[in-house]
Amino acid sequence: MSLLSVIVPCYNEEENVDCFYEELMKNTPFFEKEGLELEILYVDDGSKDRTVEEVKDLRKRDERVHLISFSRNFGKESAIYAGLQKAKGDYVVMMDADLQDPPSLLPEMFSYIKEGYDSVATRRVTRKGEPPIRSFFARMFYRLVNRISKTEIVDGARDYRLMTRQVVDSILQMTEYNRFTKGIFGWVGYSTKWLEFENVERAHGETKWNFWKLFIYALDGITAFSTVPLALASFMGVLFCFVAFLLILVIVIKTLAIGDPVGGWPSMVCIICMVSGVQLFCLGIVGQYLSKTYMEVKKRPIYLVKEEL
Ligand code: UDP
Ligand code: MG
Repeated sequence: MSLLSVIVPCYNEEENVDCFYEELMKNTPFFEKEGLELEILYVDDGSKDRTVEEVKDLRKRDERVHLISFSRNFGKESAIYAGLQKAKGDYVVMMDADLQDPPSLLPEMFSYIKEGYDSVATRRVTRKGEPPIRSFFARMFYRLVNRISKTEIVDGARDYRLMTRQVVDSILQMTEYNRFTKGIFGWVGYSTKWLEFENVERAHGETKWNFWKLFIYALDGITAFSTVPLALASFMGVLFCFVAFLLILVIVIKTLAIGDPVGGWPSMVCIICMVSGVQLFCLGIVGQYLSKTYMEVKKRPIYLVKEEL
């Protein structure tokens, strides 16, 4: 018998705790056939609703259900890390509580693990039901980040993944504070099989992401897996020196040839504005990395557990 750990990060998912369990249990014949024992870890990320009570009720019915409850909301990345730390399984799978990661895909995913893949990941091929502007920025983000980072970050990838113990242990070795899970999976490598599926709408409740949160998340992703923006300052510096040199030549030649009519202060103001803008922009980039480094050297815990069952 081998053990399969299912990690379910939950933040205000009271309606989904039971639904998810029912849906997962539809796979029972498959679990029995494969000789898989089950361990379901609900990671409550500081929910303010009845999520914790719902999980406790569920645990009364089924001993295989476990609860890890955080002292406050630490974010999904922290919930995933906690789940991975606590999971004892030979195989570990992560799934959203809102059934956007259909548990019915599990048998197919497992068949690839048996074939010899180390991890089976999923990506949605459509972004149906999402505001077009969000899809547009998402696509831009993936294109940009893949160009400036050596780590492959797949467009549309979900955090729905089935992994072997070896992969999980590798991920756990990455103890960084700024956790961008999509990049971390890519970074550890191993042979990965990608499964594609159509976007599924949330079962109950609302998404915890808004445009601004996603934007910050995208910036985190870039700073966590690329240092190219830092080189931008040097690049622009060289470019501006070159342009300035050309301009000086032009002015000197012009002055020698046709004299020096004084003027041109508006153009001077424009140049000063632009150059100081570029300087502040570059300084801001350095600041971004500095702030990440600052948080990292503090070595604060990634999450705090209030209750564990
Ligand atoms: N989640 C979490 N902590 C948070 C936000 C979300 O644990 O701070 C969980 C949430 O309960 C869900 C999963 O992460 O199980 C995905 O969240 P959501 O459905 O809001 O994201 P989306 O599917 O819209 O990307
Ligand atoms: Mg969702």
